[in-house]
Amino acid sequence: MMMKLRSAWRRLTDPLSIARYRSRLGLDHPHFYTESAHCFRILAHYMPQVFWVWTPDWQRVLYVSLAYERVWGQPRDKLIQSPLTWLFSVHPEDRAAIEAMISTPVDRLPETIELPPFRVVRPAGEVRWVSLQAYPLRDRRGRVQRIAGIATDVTETRSAERRMRQLNRAIEQSAEAVVITDKQGIIEYVNPAFEKMTGYGQAELLGQNPRLLQGGSHDAAFYKDLWQTVTSGHSFFATFINRRKSGDIYHQEETISPVMDEHGEVTHFISTSRDATRLVETQERLHHMAYHDVLTGLPNRVLFRDRLEQAIVKSKRNRRIVPVMFLDLDKFKDVNDTLGHALGDQVLKLAAERLGKLVRPGDTIARLGGDEFIILLEGMGRIEDVSDRASVIVNAFSRPFHVEQHEVFLGCSVGIAIYPNDAGNIDDLFRAADTAMYRAKDRGRSNYQFFTAEMAAKVMQRVGLERALRQALDNDEFAIHYQPRVTLPSGVPTSVEALLRWERPGHDYMSPAEFVSALEDTGLIVPVGKWLMDKACGQVREWHDKGMRVGVAVNVSSRQFWEPGLADHVAHCLEKYGLEPRWLELEITENLLLEQSDRIMTTFGALEELGMRIAIDDFGTGFSSMSYLKRLPILVLKIDRSFVRDILTDPEDMAIASAIVSLGRALGLTVVAEGVESEAQLQALLPLGCDEGQGYYFARPMDAVKTGVWLSERLLADNAKRRYLAQPRGAVRMASEE
Ligand code: C2E
Ligand code: CA
Ligand code: CA
Repeated sequence: MMMKLRSAWRRLTDPLSIARYRSRLGLDHPHFYTESAHCFRILAHYMPQVFWVWTPDWQRVLYVSLAYERVWGQPRDKLIQSPLTWLFSVHPEDRAAIEAMISTPVDRLPETIELPPFRVVRPAGEVRWVSLQAYPLRDRRGRVQRIAGIATDVTETRSAERRMRQLNRAIEQSAEAVVITDKQGIIEYVNPAFEKMTGYGQAELLGQNPRLLQGGSHDAAFYKDLWQTVTSGHSFFATFINRRKSGDIYHQEETISPVMDEHGEVTHFISTSRDATRLVETQERLHHMAYHDVLTGLPNRVLFRDRLEQAIVKSKRNRRIVPVMFLDLDKFKDVNDTLGHALGDQVLKLAAERLGKLVRPGDTIARLGGDEFIILLEGMGRIEDVSDRASVIVNAFSRPFHVEQHEVFLGCSVGIAIYPNDAGNIDDLFRAADTAMYRAKDRGRSNYQFFTAEMAAKVMQRVGLERALRQALDNDEFAIHYQPRVTLPSGVPTSVEALLRWERPGHDYMSPAEFVSALEDTGLIVPVGKWLMDKACGQVREWHDKGMRVGVAVNVSSRQFWEPGLADHVAHCLEKYGLEPRWLELEITENLLLEQSDRIMTTFGALEELGMRIAIDDFGTGFSSMSYLKRLPILVLKIDRSFVRDILTDPEDMAIASAIVSLGRALGLTVVAEGVESEAQLQALLPLGCDEGQGYYFARPMDAVKTGVWLSERLLADNAKRRYLAQPRGAVRMASEE
């Protein structure tokens, strides 16, 4: 434009060229010159840029167009009057370049002067950015006659450019990956975040179709939907499963939007996306955690219920049964107690693995917590198939587990309930399987049991019993009866056996044989056993103080042996009542010795150190090897009363009783015959050389008061006995109870 202007100017001002035009065009119109100048002036006057003409010394403005008033915000008159006002409106910081231009000797000015944009501060304070180009205009001899200039208001373009630059920078630096494609989907631009995410460089991506990244997990319908959405002018959002250059699959959360021109035609697509792999992984992990057991990775109760629900729905259609197995590891608690929780956890993992190999792929195993598992067998037609599977599982669990250097024998008890036979809904089915499992436990463990309705009733009873027992200790419902033991043949009492009694309000007498197992299962035997030992020792102290020197035998169940602190409690009781250890005897059963655990052996060691006497109760009914008799601090064998009962009629029982006495003799142990009910039984036992006897024939178990009377009659001289009996101690009746 400037070139044209300049040549136009030259032509217009140069008389020679005017003459040439005139002659060439054959025009000799008197107004030619003035008319052209007029047109030009109008053009200059209204152009959006400011057009100037200066004298070469810049001291006079010969012409300035109308735009000046718009850009500078001042009337042109003012400029004409004082030609440097335009300069004074320039921001002081931007004036240097202009001043340099003005002060340059005019013949050294270049052909074109281009000043960097400067700020013009309008009188009202508004700032405009202006760029100025100036052109010295020379005559034929090359002397500068005028200086023309064009000033352009670049405020808008400048901020648009700046915005573009910012936008560009933002996209380049964005954490979001950005891709721009043409309307065929060919990549025209990718930002660094996109390169980073995909592993491809810009050069590899430009000109490509984003199909290059497809991971193969979406079907054709997915891409068709995408294409239809964006070509119809809408945005498409999805999590794509794509493949990086390295081949890794990743998740890309992406929005693809069409870019439309002013006619609404799609010209480009712009996609913004980010790597959602971590997010997706976290979501998947959380989802997994919500439905799985952390330790074993097996489904948890929630997922199991879900699968069971589905199985039940399915079974309504295919009329198949839905068997559910409750599985409880038999000796897991012992493992935890002896090997510690870390190894216990490992055992659980191994158990879960083994279980996993015993079911079919469609079946579901879940861990309910602790050592309890539940199994859903799918597609079973016959009950026999269920029991086959159960027996396979029980057998598999009779094999040991190996953790570190330990060989762990667990065994498992399995309870089976079947939908719809045993229960009509999930909760009842769970309960039924649980009940059946407890029956398997009761039946000696390492076996499986099916649920039946009468079993459920029994369990309900048991639940009530346990609840009542939990309160019995607090409510002071327990009492101790004592049954004397006498020397044979003299009949002199040596000790009494402390027997637990539960005086349950509103209930008939219940034998401890019935409720002790509930105490053991619930662990209540531990506090109750402690209470009983303390009370029995206190009672013996009292009798000693009255001159009746008897010992007390306390029954200790295996559960108490497992509990740490048994020996400590024994020591505590002896000390509290100032009793020598020989006055306290602990009765244990042989079955305790079946479990050859370190824990039990440690307790034995501690008791031996205390000088405790240990008796084997119900001797002859257990299955243990006899070698322990030599190794452990055992001093007493109590012949089980079943052998004594039939000793007169069953020669085998007689032989067993006789063998036990001989064994005791040989090992230097005291042998006690239990359950002696008659003179005849006593007469049969005496020749064997049995040391002591216990039974209804001598005395029934009695409360403490009656026992005291009974003992005083046998242990005290007449005077002392009289004194003892005279003491106030409530009603004293004859020695019999129950
Ligand atoms: P046990 O240790 O064998 O106790 C002896 C049981 O035989 C007692 O039954 C006693 O009353 C009964 N008995 C004594 N003499 C005769 C007799 O001549 N004929 C017959 N038929 N029975 C006789 P009880 O008191 O019902 O106790 C039953 C079982 O309960 C006990 O058998 C013992 O295993 C358990 N038990 C009792 N008290 C405790 C206790 O404090 N702790 C533990 N852990 N178990 C206990
Ligand atoms: Ca006993
Ligand atoms: Ca016994």
